[in-house]
Amino acid sequence: MDLKALIRDVPDFPEPGIMFRDITTLLQDHQGLSYVIDHFANNLANQEIDCIIAIESRGFILGAPLAYHLGAGFIPVRKPGKLPAEIHSIDYQLEYGSDRLEIHQDAIKPGSKVLVVDDVIATGGTAAATATLLEKFSCDLLGFAFIVELTALAGRDKLPSVPVHSIVQY
Ligand code: AMP
Repeated sequence: MDLKALIRDVPDFPEPGIMFRDITTLLQDHQGLSYVIDHFANNLANQEIDCIIAIESRGFILGAPLAYHLGAGFIPVRKPGKLPAEIHSIDYQLEYGSDRLEIHQDAIKPGSKVLVVDDVIATGGTAAATATLLEKFSCDLLGFAFIVELTALAGRDKLPSVPVHSIVQY
């Protein structure tokens, strides 16, 4: 399937010079949505995965159906102030300024095999921060899965040495 034909390119969003790869147009196409979920589910079918770790917010859209397909649990990594119970948090640098991600302290049982999911890997800062957050748990990080990878930004180089899978590269 030609996923690039379903992904909308929006120049200068959210700021001048950024080419935003908008997956809403992919998700609204039922064949496109099925394709990406089935693609990940098929690629991961022979791996034992206990939990999908999904990054707010577009990672949630992929993470929940994928977890359901794989018979895995779903764990949200959220923006600040959203999770109600005890949290671990990490601050990380963006191109301009910084941001924070949070996860419930009791989200991951020791020894769990986990996979991180998001829509796009750009600089890799968000996914790398998530990997650092996971170090708080004695879990086994199996890899990362993204729909889109912006290869010029070399985001995967920031990630731990586990498999990093993307379906479409720009
Ligand atoms: P990163 O630079 O890898 O930390 O990207 C941060 C987040 O911003 C990712 O979760 C993506 O969802 C989103 N993002 C960054 N750059 C783009 C882009 N050019 N198009 C669409 N989403 C983007």
